[in-house]
Amino acid sequence: MAAYDVVVIGGGPGGYSAAIRARQLGLKTALIEDAELGGTCLNWGCIPTKALLKQAEVYQLFLRADEFGLRVDKPAVDWDAVIGRSRQVAAQLSKGVAYLMQKNQVEVFAGRGRLTPSRQIAVEDAEGEVAAELDAAHVVLATGARPKSIPGVEFDGERIIASREAMVVAEQPASLAIIGAGAIGVEFAYFYRAFGSKVLLLEALPQILPREDEEIAAGLAESLAQQGIEVVTEARVEEVKRQKRGIALRYRAGEEQKTRRVERILVATGVQGNIEGLGLEALGIRTRDGAIVVDERMQTSAKGIYAIGDVAGPPLLAHAAAQEGVAAVEFIAGRDRPTLDPRQVPNCIYCQPQVASVGLSESQAREAGYDVKVGRFPFAASGKGQAAGETEGLVKLVFDARYGELLGGAILGAEATELIAELTLALRLEATYEELLLTSHAHPTLSEAVMEAAGQAFGEAINY
Ligand code: NAD
Repeated sequence: MAAYDVVVIGGGPGGYSAAIRARQLGLKTALIEDAELGGTCLNWGCIPTKALLKQAEVYQLFLRADEFGLRVDKPAVDWDAVIGRSRQVAAQLSKGVAYLMQKNQVEVFAGRGRLTPSRQIAVEDAEGEVAAELDAAHVVLATGARPKSIPGVEFDGERIIASREAMVVAEQPASLAIIGAGAIGVEFAYFYRAFGSKVLLLEALPQILPREDEEIAAGLAESLAQQGIEVVTEARVEEVKRQKRGIALRYRAGEEQKTRRVERILVATGVQGNIEGLGLEALGIRTRDGAIVVDERMQTSAKGIYAIGDVAGPPLLAHAAAQEGVAAVEFIAGRDRPTLDPRQVPNCIYCQPQVASVGLSESQAREAGYDVKVGRFPFAASGKGQAAGETEGLVKLVFDARYGELLGGAILGAEATELIAELTLALRLEATYEELLLTSHAHPTLSEAVMEAAGQAFGEAINY
């Protein structure tokens, strides 16, 4: 039986990053993957959706050509090519992961990995036959998560779909209802609306993007409504009936009951960990709410078995998974390194305008008992924003009034997902508003809005 220092089950960003780091640390490493390398992120998540969203943005920019003094005939959409480019980008990157595995001498096994009661790892082929058995001092479980359906709205892969099918629908739907206004719901709402579909976005809670700052989420809701998306909060789906053509949807919005016919429904109400069939029970590995329970070193309740990424619960983000994977193998290798702080993980949503945040929101900071100072800077007051025609949104920063330390920040607007990196680093370095102000920000850039918002919190903004 082949023996390894580390066997990783799952080849998404968490798993493959763990495998590469393990090799860098001199550990003999194998990785087991039963689908495409790169996992959901590269193949059916982050990357292909970002390609789709970019294409939607380009299309929207063409529609605004007049604003920039350009005369462009009405642009036409080649739907097959729109989908095709997204698939091609995903395929290219998945090949890139295969190359990285080879370059780093990670042995890759194609199949399903499962822990056996005697604590070996079985690799099963598509027929469920054991193709290989591996022995490992340490195991890293990185099997990810899959969409959760809601009762009465079960997926059929055709008209009631999850994000994966929403990335490759053969024809652009004339109308679409999206249930759940988290990251996935909001991104697809923007994408389909940008290309002209009629979109109804239903959220159960009082605000879209419930984990985001209220002001930022309200700003986005307003913008999406202006784009023509019907946004309904406090919505409860009561009945979904498949009809010959399309679907009849009955929902309640507050006191009002409404019915709507749509071509398709996208369910984006969250995900659940892929914990089944891993052999967890026999080894006494604890799970809670559909995720594997881990300690701050990412170790499960069974010694030497680690879990990282979506299967280990929130934050359910690819960049968190990659960091957790690296951390887990560094702990395995006996490295002295800090544990991860989930408050320092940025959250990014790539609709337009974009949303990005890190740390505490204003209300979270107040609830935590801080004496809070808030600084804002709207992109309408930014020279670069005006020049680039990107005047929507704002930077909002939250400071502790006593020492001026940054507690968190949220951005609504163009390039928010890039701009958040500065705030993430500032938070990690426990930066104060003064340090943000003393840092030279190139002019003209959207990043100046970060510096100005820091100044605004303490009465020192220059341009606002
Ligand atoms: P999510 O948890 O972010 O959002 C689900 C939303 O659905 C919530 O707002 C919730 O209140 C709502 N909801 C739940 N049940 C509902 C119901 N019955 N009716 C109406 N609304 C209901 O989940 P998601 O958007 O499905 O994304 C899954 C995971 O993937 C998340 O953790 C997300 O952060 C991550 N993700 C991140 C990105 C990104 O970073 N850009 C993109 C896609 C997904």
